[in-house]
Amino acid sequence: MPENLDQPVANAISEDYQRERKLSFLEKIYLPEIFKGLWYSFKQMFAPTFTLNYPDEKWEPPSIFRGRPVLVEDNGQERCVSCGLCARACPPLAISMQANEDSDDPKERYPEKFEINMLRCIYCGYCEEVCPEEAIVMSKDYDIVFESREDAVYDKDRLMVPKEDLKERLDFLKEYKNNQFGQFWDFQEENNIHSVRDRDQDWNTGLSLVDLLEQQKKNDASEASSNWSV
Ligand code: SF4
Ligand code: SF4
Repeated sequence: MPENLDQPVANAISEDYQRERKLSFLEKIYLPEIFKGLWYSFKQMFAPTFTLNYPDEKWEPPSIFRGRPVLVEDNGQERCVSCGLCARACPPLAISMQANEDSDDPKERYPEKFEINMLRCIYCGYCEEVCPEEAIVMSKDYDIVFESREDAVYDKDRLMVPKEDLKERLDFLKEYKNNQFGQFWDFQEENNIHSVRDRDQDWNTGLSLVDLLEQQKKNDASEASSNWSV
């Protein structure tokens, strides 16, 4: 015979169980509990406060805080070389850019356009982690308001912040990265003002890209020499 599932299952061990305890008279009228609550609220009026009267009072975040990502402006110019690593690493695909080249600039490449869609950004900091030039960092700016979707797309002009204003975060990153990689990593400020061409003097042959490719072809055509060849 099928079990009747509508019936509550009785306590198999003892049927003498109590679902509710009996309330006293004072508990039934609730007044003592109400006055206890009022007394607690009254005491809190004299307790030390931990909240801020935002936006009249602003919170100053510590340097570890990850606020709005910004582009570092170094001597009036963005550090970014438009390598695209940050856009690749960004989980919600918030970053887009268009690269351009300037042969007169030791940096050679720069972003013609650079945009971050702040409606997509999740403040993960991956862009900052992967950037080889320390050109994009997480600022302390948490006070972000938009009035439209278009307004939420920050262009290069709105993203650029002078490095002097980001000093605390840059110092934090330097300490963090140097500690993270120990003796193998010695982050220096001047790492950021090189071009890829000048990074390693051994590779700086002074040849144009076409000549370099020609040289490469010749090298590839020459007979391989190896200690392992028979
Ligand atoms: S903080 Fe994260 S989500 Fe925001 S732009 Fe950088 S990588 Fe993208
Ligand atoms: S990773 Fe850094 S250098 Fe490369 S495009 Fe992004 S901000 Fe620019």
